Amino acid sequence: MRNLIKKTIFVLLLLLTLSFAFNLLEQSFEKEKEVSLTQLATDINQEKIQKISISGNELSLLYQEGTRAHSRKEEDLALSQSLINCGVSPEKISRVEIETKESNSLWIWLGPLISIFLPLLLFSFFFWTLLRQARTGAMQAFDFTKARARLFGAEGHPKEKITFKDVAALDEAKEELKEIVDFLKNPKKYLQMGARIPRGVLLMGPAGVGKTLLARAVAGEANVSFFSISGSEFVEMFVGVGAGRVRDLFATAKRVGRSIIFIDELDAVGRVRGAGIGGGHDEREQTLNQILVEMDGFERDDTRIVMAATNRPDILDPALLRPGRFDRKIVLDLPDIKGREKILKIHCRGKPLALDINLREVAERTPGFSGADLANLVNEAALFAARKNKRQIFQKELLESIEKVLLGPERKSHILSKKEKEFAAYHEAGHALVASHLPESEPVRKVSIVARGAAAGYTLKMPREERQIKTKSEFLAEMAVLLAGFSAEKMRFGEISTGATNDLKQATELARKLIKEYGMSSLGPIAFGKKEELVFLGKEISEQRTYSEIVAAQIDKEVAKFINEAQKTAQKILTKRRKLLDRLATTLIEKETIEKEEFEKIIGEEKSESAKPLPQKARTIKVKVKRL
Ligand code: ADP
Ligand code: MG
Ligand code: ZN
Repeated sequence: MRNLIKKTIFVLLLLLTLSFAFNLLEQSFEKEKEVSLTQLATDINQEKIQKISISGNELSLLYQEGTRAHSRKEEDLALSQSLINCGVSPEKISRVEIETKESNSLWIWLGPLISIFLPLLLFSFFFWTLLRQARTGAMQAFDFTKARARLFGAEGHPKEKITFKDVAALDEAKEELKEIVDFLKNPKKYLQMGARIPRGVLLMGPAGVGKTLLARAVAGEANVSFFSISGSEFVEMFVGVGAGRVRDLFATAKRVGRSIIFIDELDAVGRVRGAGIGGGHDEREQTLNQILVEMDGFERDDTRIVMAATNRPDILDPALLRPGRFDRKIVLDLPDIKGREKILKIHCRGKPLALDINLREVAERTPGFSGADLANLVNEAALFAARKNKRQIFQKELLESIEKVLLGPERKSHILSKKEKEFAAYHEAGHALVASHLPESEPVRKVSIVARGAAAGYTLKMPREERQIKTKSEFLAEMAVLLAGFSAEKMRFGEISTGATNDLKQATELARKLIKEYGMSSLGPIAFGKKEELVFLGKEISEQRTYSEIVAAQIDKEVAKFINEAQKTAQKILTKRRKLLDRLATTLIEKETIEKEEFEKIIGEEKSESAKPLPQKARTIKVKVKRL
């Protein structure tokens, strides 16, 4: 579209300049006086004319005094004859120098012709291009049943070939997929055995764990074609289009032979049927039906394999999961520390790394990061190094990128007012101080009041180990730390800012979990409420209340008790160490960021004992505190 506008402007400008040029030309013609033939005859008789140049029927006259004029002779008649007819004596004519020029009548004709036809030509060219573009647009619009599948692998882009080598971690998934690869490489071996090869493989896992990557790696490993289409692309305005695309996609793959058909975001079309708001037979359902029909239509020796990815397997239509369809399910988890290190290594390939790089340390500090996050982290570090005109990526850049990926970029432009800064400083100092004084809490790694992403300040802590199990006292310490920002503000200013909003939310959620899930309250070891939860996604979808109103009231009371106690703990620590709080806050206002070493110096030796991180073994950072 932009192109079209550019073209239009160009053509219009061209036309303008051309018409301008023609105008000028015409004017220069008109400058010469036009003299009639009889006038010319008189002038010759009066011997005013010095020279006449004839070209075609045009006469250029040169007068004795040097002026020029313009005239025309009669057609089909010699000039001298015409002049004699007009009463000029032949003798007078002989005194005039007469010159015949090569007739450039061609130009005389062409001139006006061009001035008429060139604009016309240009116009028609212009309309032609317009029309052509409109037509291709329309063709595309009408051709939507063609699946817009992208082809990679064998016949696609050989350079983009991805193999298992490019996928780190995910070893179990790779192991399971090796069978598929082997079948695609050598289908005969399996068919002779009479084995039934799975037609559909469903990859399940949270965003960014490498589902798409793995599917492409299977195709690359087996060296077959890879047709990729995203579920959301099936869903179009017009009913029937999605189904048409599915048909086309499967047919194309059949023509190619051994291939992988990859349907990304299967949940976009594969949702439970009959749950649509727009009635029973909407577009999505037709598309889904077509997928089922196509998969059922596979012959026994079919060498097409359908792979699909989703992060919402819970909402898939059960029909998709029946044998003969997506009966092979592979769960991809977020990488653990070893996996993270391997993924980092893969993404550091081909980048100039400084000698001080320690990917293990980066992996330690990035629990919960997906493969995509880690890829992003390495890229940020490279950008960072380039911006600083470094020739290599140093560990410093990598570590700084962790925070960037985690919290968003530093918002240098966001300038806190003096008052805001004081609030933020006391708030963060409160978190940090309480964290460092509770032995169950994790040591402080960094305190800052530099705004980052949505947070106006943050306190980073370092979990001593990456643990699956946590104890009640640790949870209580966590809640106290969460409420410390709130308490510090209240202590110093006698009022509370909105900065604690997110802390309160987190603390309350935690308290609820302690009561309802972990059985850590006085209500005893009972699980309250039934959750529709995706274990490997760590996401709660909905909650079903399985307890009475009375219990609900009791739970609310328990929550309040937990929060109250946490606040009391925080307050006690802060009151006892009021001086330290003031000093930390002052330092923060002055320096904005305090790193671990300096923090421990301020706190003094006494407490750094308990805050010391355990030697090595999975040290990680975690954002505990976000201020809005
Ligand atoms: P998903 O489809 O699960 O959302 P992708 O496959 O699109 O995730 O992964 C996004 C990017 O993250 C990949 O292109 C790759 O660069 C990186 N990535 C994710 N997982 C891994 C992994 N296990 N090994 C290497 N890179 C990975
Ligand atoms: Mg994907
Ligand atoms: Zn806070």
